[in-house]
Amino acid sequence: MLLNSRLPINDFLNNNFSCTCGRIHSVPIQQVLIQDGALKSLPDLLIQNGRQRPFFLYDSTTYKVAGVLISSIMKDKLPYSSYIMNQSEPTPDEKTLGEILIHYDPTCDIIIAVGSGSINDLSRFISYKLGIPYLIAATAPSMDGFASNVAPLIVRHMKTTYEAHVPFAILGDTALLSAAPMPMICAGIGDILGKYTCLCDWEISNIITGEYLCKGIEGIVRKSLDTIVSQINHVKSRDQGAIRCIMEALVLSGIAMSFAGNSRPASGSEHHLSHYWEMVFLFDGKKPVLHGTKVGIATIAVIKAYELLMSKYIDFNKAKKLAELYSYDDWVLKMKDLYGPASDSVIELELQIHKNSTKNRIARICLLEEHWEELRQTAAQLPSSDTVSGYLSELSAPASPMAVGIDKSTFINSFIAAKELRNRFGLLQIVYDLGLSEEIAEEVWDYFNN
Ligand SMILES: [Zn+2]
Ligand SMILES: [Zn+2]
Repeated sequence: MLLNSRLPINDFLNNNFSCTCGRIHSVPIQQVLIQDGALKSLPDLLIQNGRQRPFFLYDSTTYKVAGVLISSIMKDKLPYSSYIMNQSEPTPDEKTLGEILIHYDPTCDIIIAVGSGSINDLSRFISYKLGIPYLIAATAPSMDGFASNVAPLIVRHMKTTYEAHVPFAILGDTALLSAAPMPMICAGIGDILGKYTCLCDWEISNIITGEYLCKGIEGIVRKSLDTIVSQINHVKSRDQGAIRCIMEALVLSGIAMSFAGNSRPASGSEHHLSHYWEMVFLFDGKKPVLHGTKVGIATIAVIKAYELLMSKYIDFNKAKKLAELYSYDDWVLKMKDLYGPASDSVIELELQIHKNSTKNRIARICLLEEHWEELRQTAAQLPSSDTVSGYLSELSAPASPMAVGIDKSTFINSFIAAKELRNRFGLLQIVYDLGLSEEIAEEVWDYFNN
């Protein structure tokens, strides 16, 4: 079957797609059910697939939201075990993973993640390590990781993406999803709005570094974006149809990541900024901000940065001279300052790939110069920063770094440091290569403050 971005979700499942990119894409999710009352099909779904004893994992909030409903649905159908974590927002780190394993019932043969963000990441990782499937009973359309095959975990203070597997099935009961807290629904929308900049980064990386790009996968992600934007007006009233569309868009985005085999189709500079802010909040002991909320704000920042960059006169020769002044030792000191206890992994990555070395940087500057007009045209396809900001404001969602407690120095530092989290070329590396990180960051900060 040929990959066609207009196909509905269930046509993407249990199929192999010979794609125009030359690869075969598939995702081993067996079922996605997003509708009113979807949870009622849970026992039959498990029985049909030969599962004998599910293990339900809740946090304190998702148990309150769905615990009684799930108990009544499972009653007299299948024996099961469950564990309810004390926290309402468990941190997906070594400690929490250990806690879940201590309470896990080894007679179970599937994990049911009841929740969204962290519960989903933790269940995906643990079930993968245990060699058993997992299923998601989603309680909020708050992020796009439902269908993804990787697990972002915080290990040694550093957000790192680990290999895992996709869920066996995703159940999104729209009665539950539409009753989710509005900030969580808005976070889901923010996570999808991030695809604007992520796709722009991907296209530009394809031009500059020759990185693999699949137009079919890109089409799926654009479909998610179009769906979200078309539903924004109906979200405030918690219209179940609109919430179903948002959940479908989030699942589609995850399928796109699974098709690509990594998070490239769904995560670019906006996600790197968000990850950096998250880490700083963690170090400072501040209350975490929802992933998608940060991604939405970071998307506006990255679009604004693209707008500013493309309106500047770029002195490529000056950039090359600056690159010659690069000192690895100074860079290490800077990373130690900006990353604190997490700097080891960032330095380790640079030692493997040397992406900031004078030689590699100058090579990229030459390519940037050669393809600048093409880059300008690619960036011109982005919606304006004001448009995306307007989407979030219309939902009364936070639309600036200050609105979620990100201070100026964290913001400026993130423009310098966040690109070191991954070996992934995009806006943040471009402004660094051109010696403009701080200048652009200051201007973007001013934009938010005007
Ligand atoms: Zn492809
Ligand atoms: Zn995300």
